[in-house]
Amino acid sequence: MSGRVIVITSGKGGVGKTTSTANIGTALAKNGARVAMIDTDIGLRNLDLLMGLENRIVYTLVDYIEEKCKLQQALVKDKKIPTLSLLAAAQTSDKTAVTSEQMKDICDKLKEDFDYVLVDSPAGIEGGFQNAIAGASEAIIITTPEMAAVRDADRIIGLLEANENILNYKLVLNRVRPKMIQSNDMLSVSDVTDILSVKMLGVIPEDENIIISTNKGDPIVNMENSRAGTAYNNIARRLLGEEVPIPDFEAPPPSFVERLKNIFLTPVKI
Ligand code: ADP
Ligand code: MG
Repeated sequence: MSGRVIVITSGKGGVGKTTSTANIGTALAKNGARVAMIDTDIGLRNLDLLMGLENRIVYTLVDYIEEKCKLQQALVKDKKIPTLSLLAAAQTSDKTAVTSEQMKDICDKLKEDFDYVLVDSPAGIEGGFQNAIAGASEAIIITTPEMAAVRDADRIIGLLEANENILNYKLVLNRVRPKMIQSNDMLSVSDVTDILSVKMLGVIPEDENIIISTNKGDPIVNMENSRAGTAYNNIARRLLGEEVPIPDFEAPPPSFVERLKNIFLTPVKI
């Protein structure tokens, strides 16, 4: 059976595509899947940094296209998980080094050997985006709960709708701050699903541990008990077909202190 090729995309840049690719890929592999991640952000590669694999890269995507190596040689194995591999982007200034046909060909080859092929796409809706989606049949759209990012996600959804190869797409809402939602200072999960009318794959909280994990080159799903790591692991489990409820950040249970306050501040009826 051939694997699933999923493109991780967004309208706006800097909303967490690369972070999500690294973590969903790692979590899927930790759950037993064979996973290849492709960095298509030519010139700006950073998926390798997030994975801590930058020193292990000998050949890149472009080297394979230029027939300098075999596809197997360009796949860099993860340090910890043997079933996880990365195909790195080249640090060339030539953004046209890869065509859509070549991308599709690479995805078709990889899906013979891997259960999941995750394609990390560059920002924007130009050539890079078209290349990134060329071999995919599913998409994960990343957005943050800011109006500008949601609007750009809407444009991407339009493009995905118009693409006949993409059969299925879902949303990941990243950098959610439950407290800001409660104080009505941030779009809620249901606000975003209402605006975009798209199925939700997962919600990732804002988590400063992501900065630590990025600096260490070790995805946050490898960090025990981190909120974002748990949320990414739940996304992987949903992709694998498990029913994992999405937490409702709109009505979190009152904290212990808040419950105490409620008890003591509730006026006693006489
Ligand atoms: P993109 O690939 O879409 O450009 P990145 O994955 O590189 O986005 O993320 C952009 C920045 O946001 C990075 O510095 C990353 O560490 C930070 N970031 C992403 N998700 C979160 C999160 N849930 N909590 C805190 N910081 C995050
Ligand atoms: Mg990126």
